[in-house]
This record gives sequence, C-alpha cells and structure tokens, in this order.
Amino acid sequence: MKKLLPLVIFSLVLSVANAQNEDSVFIRKLSDEILSNSKAYDNLRVLTKQIGGRLAGSPQMVKAEQWGLKAMKAANADSTWLQQCMVQHWVRGGQDKAYARDVPLTYNGRKKTGARVLDVVALGNSVGSMKPLTAPILLVNSFDELEQKKDEVKGKIVFYNYKFNPTYVRTFQAYGEASQYRGAGPSRAAKYGAVGVIVRSMSHSTDNHPHTGATRYADTLPKIPAVAIGLRDADWLSETLQKQTTSVTLQTHGKFLPDTIGHNVIGEIKGSEFPNEYITVGGHLDSWDNCEGAHDDGAGCVQTIEILRAFKALGYKPKRTIRFVLFANEENGLRGGNKYADEAKAKGEKHIFALESDAGGFTPRGFGFTVPADKFAKVKAWEALLKPYGASEFSQGGGGADIGPLNRTQGTPVAGLQPDSQRYFDYHHARNDTFEAVNKRELDLGAVNMAALIYLIDKYGL
Ligand SMILES: [Zn+2]
Repeated sequence: MKKLLPLVIFSLVLSVANAQNEDSVFIRKLSDEILSNSKAYDNLRVLTKQIGGRLAGSPQMVKAEQWGLKAMKAANADSTWLQQCMVQHWVRGGQDKAYARDVPLTYNGRKKTGARVLDVVALGNSVGSMKPLTAPILLVNSFDELEQKKDEVKGKIVFYNYKFNPTYVRTFQAYGEASQYRGAGPSRAAKYGAVGVIVRSMSHSTDNHPHTGATRYADTLPKIPAVAIGLRDADWLSETLQKQTTSVTLQTHGKFLPDTIGHNVIGEIKGSEFPNEYITVGGHLDSWDNCEGAHDDGAGCVQTIEILRAFKALGYKPKRTIRFVLFANEENGLRGGNKYADEAKAKGEKHIFALESDAGGFTPRGFGFTVPADKFAKVKAWEALLKPYGASEFSQGGGGADIGPLNRTQGTPVAGLQPDSQRYFDYHHARNDTFEAVNKRELDLGAVNMAALIYLIDKYGL
C-alpha cells in the first residue's frame, strides 16, 4: 500500500488534470464560436432600434415578446414558448416638465431674472401632477435631514440631493444606498405634507440626463408626483438654494392602467441524463420607456440567446435541461420572475442553478454567487478556467432580480454576471442607454463567460 499510494495520488491528479484540460478545450471552443459567429450584437440592434423602449404593458412589449420567440427559434432551441403572466401597466402619459422660477440668469451676456428649464423625468409608477404644480423647494441631503426639517416640509416640493458615493469602487454599492431616495423618498416626504418630490439622479455621470426608475408609495400616505433631475441641474439648483429661496413648477402625467397580459419568453434545451434538473439563464426583456434599454437589459437578453445559439452550433448535449428566459416586467413589478418561480414550484421542478445578466453589457470581471458555503467552494475551484476570458473574480453575494424568486421559494443557488461597473450608471434608466453605448466585443465576452459557467454547472452539478 505504501508503494501504491503515490501511484494512486498520481493517477487521481492526472484524471483531475485531464478533466480540467477537457473543460478548458471545450470552453475555448465556446469562446471561439461566440467571438467569431455571435448574433448578440445584431439581435441587440433589432431589439433597441426597431422596437425600442419596452415597458410592461406597452405595444413595444408585445413586439419584443414576438421578437424574442423568433430569436430563440433562430438559435435552434429544442422548444420555445411564452409563459403568460399579468403585468403592471404604468404609462408616462406625456412630456414631463419642470422649471425653476425667478432665478438669476445670464441672457446674451446680461444678467436678469427669469425661469430656468430643468431636465427631469417622472419616476416610474408615480402619479402625475396633471396640472402644473408650483411650490417652494426644500432641499435635504438625506433622510436624516428630512427628519430634522420635518416642520418645514408642508406645502413644499422636497428635493433629495443625496449624492452617489464616489469612494465606492463598485458602483452598485453607491446605487444600493442612493436608490432608497427614489423608492421611499416620495412617501417619506408626503408623510410631512410635501406636495411633490425631486430626486437627484442615481448616477455619477458628467452629463445632465435624468435617470428614472420605480418608486414605491406607501398605501397609507398621499401619493405625490415625483421626478428625477439631471446632475448638472441638481448641482445648479442646490447652489441657487444656498443664495435664495426658489419655487419650481413641475408637470407630470403618469398613471396606472389596469394590469394586462405579458409573457416570459422561454427557450429550452432538453437534458440528456438528468432532464428533470433545470438550469436557468436569463435577463429581463422589459425596459424603461425613456430609453432603448440597451445595457438594461437588452444586453442580458441577447447574451442569453447567444449562449443557446452557441451550445446548439457546437452540438453540445447538456446533461441537465437548460432554460433560456427573457423575463417580463422586472423594472416596475417583477411579475415575470415571480410567475416563473411560482410555476416551477407548482410543477415540482427541481431548479439546481439560475444565472442572470442584468448589470450591463460591459467587459466581464466576475460572478457574484448566492449559494451555501460548500457549493461556493466547488465553483471557486473553476475560477482558473475562466481566467483567460475575464470573469474570474468569483465572490459571495449576487444574483439578479428575476431569479431572486427562485432562490427565495425553493432555495435555488443563483449568480449574477458582474461586468465592469464604472460606466453602468452613466446610462442606467436614462435616455442615453442606447445601442450605440454597447460595445460588441464586451457584449460577446459576457456571453462567453456565462456559457462557460453554465457548461461547468451542467457537467458537474452543484
Ligand atoms: Zn435591469
């Protein structure tokens, strides 16, 4: 035995090395296929330029669903279908407007007093003012300051000037902190009698585009109109308010129509050994209406379809059933993600893993996993295999909004692609999130890394 032991260890090491070699060869094939023949960028062009913004309930949503189904078929899915769900149907209802009144202006080199137009966009799910609404502005930099000034709030428009924290290297951390002002800000101000809300856009871009996103009213408080303002205007307004009191007139038209029918778009490759074990990969098909939804989340959708296309093009026969899903209504309802998890549960499907791309089509850096420690140790061993392709930082914590319900209802391990995050919030939910903002190579590399991770989890389980 003593003499045999080194031999046993040697052959074990050899077999692991062989498997790793086989894996790196196949991942290289996936990469070559995607980087040479990807349809992701062309698909993104059609989705963004021919269909455009596609908020749940809109005519563009219906077109996008049909486009998605066709693209899944063109990628050679074994089967494709639409999974029906009721979606929220909010409409902007018109042009959002705001201007500051009686402020100092420079006009043709001469100083005068007048109205200055502000670049704003109504927050998603917000109620419209319908008529122009004029009120003095009360600036607060945080919820703490709102509480300190609560006696001054009544009858005013509260301006939350909470700044994206520039010291976080990972910009999603800044977003996590700032987005509470968009979500909860309007109701917290309404509690003290505010008549409207302006939030500083959740971004540290250098342009002046306002960034929308969903707000959430408390049922027990009055619902007041709420807009986001571009960063240059936010800085100008806060500086002006240091010198003088200022009133703003704003006008928005948002409202909810009754819930309507939407769909998750699903393509599937049937598993050859464990067809009853499911792996899901996806992004969300809906986007805000004020942009083309290219990074958010057209990129995740076309990457998802590209992984399907590459697997089929290489004749890959997965052991487990792989589902490719374009989720409905993520931005202002999460109805698609909830429906997918509910149906999985009702049918007793065993979902062993789900992956989402919803952080932009930028250069992949890593994956964030929400999995138990033993499973994380297993995937962590694959980092080296992804190193040549970029997404080799595997960290704990992460996933995606649409696959969250799978994780919550049946404990499915989930992960999210983590691309470089420096530019994402320059575009997120703003008018410049267009096709032109996406780079083909970066987009394709995201699909390469996702495909590699799906391949490894399919082969070895989790
Ligand atoms: Zn998104």
